[in-house]
Amino acid sequence: MSTLEHNLKPGSRVLLIHPPVADTAEAEDLDMLTCVPPIGLLRVASHLRQRGCQVELLDCLAEARRVGRLRREARCAHRCGNWEEEGRRKPMHHFGLEPEELSRRLGVGPPADLVALGATFTWHLPGLREVVQACRSAWPATPVVVGGNAVSLCPEEAEGLEADGLVAGQLLDGAFLPTAIDLLPDRSTDFLQLVKGCPHRCSYCVTPRLHGGKVRARPPEEVFRELCAKQAAHATRCFVFYDDFILYRQERHLDPFLDLVAQERPGVVLEFALGFSAHLMTEALAARLRGAGVERVILALETTSEERGRRMHRPQHIAQFIRAVEILRAAGFRGPGLRAFYLIGLPDQTTREILQAILFLYHLGVTPSLTAYALTPGSEDMLRFGSRVADRGLEELAPGLWPFAHPGMRVRELDALYRYFHERFIPPERIAASRTEDPVVRQMQAILARRAHLPENW
Ligand code: SF4
Repeated sequence: MSTLEHNLKPGSRVLLIHPPVADTAEAEDLDMLTCVPPIGLLRVASHLRQRGCQVELLDCLAEARRVGRLRREARCAHRCGNWEEEGRRKPMHHFGLEPEELSRRLGVGPPADLVALGATFTWHLPGLREVVQACRSAWPATPVVVGGNAVSLCPEEAEGLEADGLVAGQLLDGAFLPTAIDLLPDRSTDFLQLVKGCPHRCSYCVTPRLHGGKVRARPPEEVFRELCAKQAAHATRCFVFYDDFILYRQERHLDPFLDLVAQERPGVVLEFALGFSAHLMTEALAARLRGAGVERVILALETTSEERGRRMHRPQHIAQFIRAVEILRAAGFRGPGLRAFYLIGLPDQTTREILQAILFLYHLGVTPSLTAYALTPGSEDMLRFGSRVADRGLEELAPGLWPFAHPGMRVRELDALYRYFHERFIPPERIAASRTEDPVVRQMQAILARRAHLPENW
């Protein structure tokens, strides 16, 4: 935070910008662009207020959606996964306020003392250059700094943005900052944080790297006090945790927090958006979640292949996942209340493997929450698979472009699978009885007929 720390004084005016992004149309169709507010910027806002600054937020995505024009023109088209085979490019649309629009909006008010932009996803980083320029053309004397995970992971590319400052690393390393939720128009949902970092090392994940290999957790009483204060201030109904590994030392942190909520009954809904590790699910934890009013549980499955799971350093086995599902179902989590994350578009994955996994989840009564695989700079996967996409820039690694689709897992199929099955439960009997000629459904019917979706037949 050096640029922020050095240049700001009490009373300084700071504009935080949640910037527009370039992405595929599918990213919008699946609500991947605006489903999560700029939580990182809301925490930066709290930090700046603690230093006496006046803070404003301009959310370029929410603003564009509010006027009914989130998706703007396509600026370019990028090659998709198996380009040689399918010869397909996907347009990258501009989402959010156009740079000229942003510049015009800034120009009507007095210049801020500092503009700060946040970049979470690495494939959105190159597009920030024109946002930096737009800010500079409106307010030439105001420094523009860029921070966020993408800056930490791609420092060289971040240099190319020509910002006045870059903020790499975690904001105030050890501190847990509250979100300044009053900067958003809708305060019915807010965000809490109990744990930062993760003790595991999954090959595709950058969480341990972003936190310097450390894991930190807060006293549960402190989190509960924050919940009560926020509820009293804004009548908040739902609190969402985006903690990467919420079960870290759960007996000291999550368990007592859930007990406090169950005991004090503040009348709120808790969501754990990044899911739970299946191998740590127990009857006691399921009962605690129920007792605290949790309505939906997501398990992190990610892959059904034991071999792939080992190579990815996943902390669980299929048997543990099945056991976790049984525990949760027995505790009353069913239907839309029981989901599992599953990665699609992985290197060397086949369409059949994905369909088997979806049918396996349907067989267990679990709704699949499909996650498009992203190859992130700084991950162990970059060392394993980076050479396959060495000729592609950051933007071309957008997960919606399916950079690892190959002749056995075509881009069109991945798009269709995502559209058909993401967060949708279809009883396997209905799939088996369907009379459609759709090739995906026919393939699923063949899998069901051979019972190839059941682990004993893998
Ligand atoms: S994927 Fe989850 S369990 Fe694995 S390292 Fe990342 S946060 Fe930890």
